[in-house]
Amino acid sequence: MSNAVMNAYGKRSLTFVRGEGSWLIDVDGKRYLDAISGIAVCGVGHANPRVAQAIAAQAATLVHTSNLYNIPLQEKLAERLRALSGMETAFFGNSGAEANEAAIKLARLYGHTKNIESPAIVVMEQAFHGRTLATLSASGNRNPMVYTGFQPLVQGFLRAPFDDLDSIKNIAKNHSNVVAILVEPVQGEGGIRVPAPDYLNHLRALCDQHQWLLMLDEVQTGNGRTGQFFAYQHNGILPDVVTTAKGLGNGFPIGVCLARGKAASLFQPGHHASTYGGNPLACAAALAVLDVLHADDLIARAVTTGQSLLARFTSMLSDCKQVISVRGKGLILGIELASDCPQLTAQAAAKGVLINVTAGKVIRLLPPLTLTDDEADLLVNTLCDLIRAHA
Ligand code: PLP
Repeated sequence: MSNAVMNAYGKRSLTFVRGEGSWLIDVDGKRYLDAISGIAVCGVGHANPRVAQAIAAQAATLVHTSNLYNIPLQEKLAERLRALSGMETAFFGNSGAEANEAAIKLARLYGHTKNIESPAIVVMEQAFHGRTLATLSASGNRNPMVYTGFQPLVQGFLRAPFDDLDSIKNIAKNHSNVVAILVEPVQGEGGIRVPAPDYLNHLRALCDQHQWLLMLDEVQTGNGRTGQFFAYQHNGILPDVVTTAKGLGNGFPIGVCLARGKAASLFQPGHHASTYGGNPLACAAALAVLDVLHADDLIARAVTTGQSLLARFTSMLSDCKQVISVRGKGLILGIELASDCPQLTAQAAAKGVLINVTAGKVIRLLPPLTLTDDEADLLVNTLCDLIRAHA
């Protein structure tokens, strides 16, 4: 491996040269069922022909102009997202972290409009919001490698345990400078932690009571993954701000911060910008992804495939002592084991299945929304055998 690349990712043993739907093909021609989709990115499958065609056609027409000029495809994408989400306005960046940076800046602006000099955002333990300085400061990662050596971190975050309303009520009592809550509807990196079904409804009510912004990080849960376009749509509520990225471009980098109501028009010229954000090529890719999600009814498919996977893992592993819980929503699934299991990633890869282990002992599954029934069978059977063999 070349040492010209910074060692931020450590040693990587697999090299892929091609993708096809749910499959990745390595340099030796071996096929792997991809149950992680580039970390919740390739939701409509690798090398999706309609997305590839849209990218190729746009690349041959106009890739980039910058936000100095009108970008009709950006406006079209903003309109489509507005219709899908119930939000009002969009700011485009190139990643999840950038989308969250925009959200954090919106919250601060909101605070300053209320004459709060030092606005604070409530964030959660084990949250993951990105690796830029502000988003890593918002994250609640227990791994010291994430933040050690990068201090001073960005100030202005107050931390509460996830899925614990009383601790937020306590924060409200003790801090008058809170302006927003930033939370993932299902914690992804934190271990596929699914909160109580009405958690978001209670957060909405708390935010209304205190005039805080409810800001949802749907970078991982958005774009149909949980069985609704955004996970908050299971709850019948609207946030004030929602961010997404990952599945929106199916691998083409794009991130977006959507806002509504009092947050919708906070950004004025000069407040925020991105050279590439929402350029014609990125927007063409995202529009094609939205078309495919709709045309192939993939969000409904995420519900049925997710329910079937959850039920089968639950029943097949019910007598397995090392399994603490099987959980998830749609196609974001976690199987928590009693002990750390990082070796399962390589063991599964040896059997031709790509998975990921997060929070030490949670097997994380983020298969494409296009996963077929046969592929689901292969995933369940391979993984259950491996988990049983894991002492
Ligand atoms: N927020 C959540 C919930 C994520 O899962 C991630 C990435 O895993 C991010 C933010 C950061 O996204 P990116 O890596 O595109 O900056």
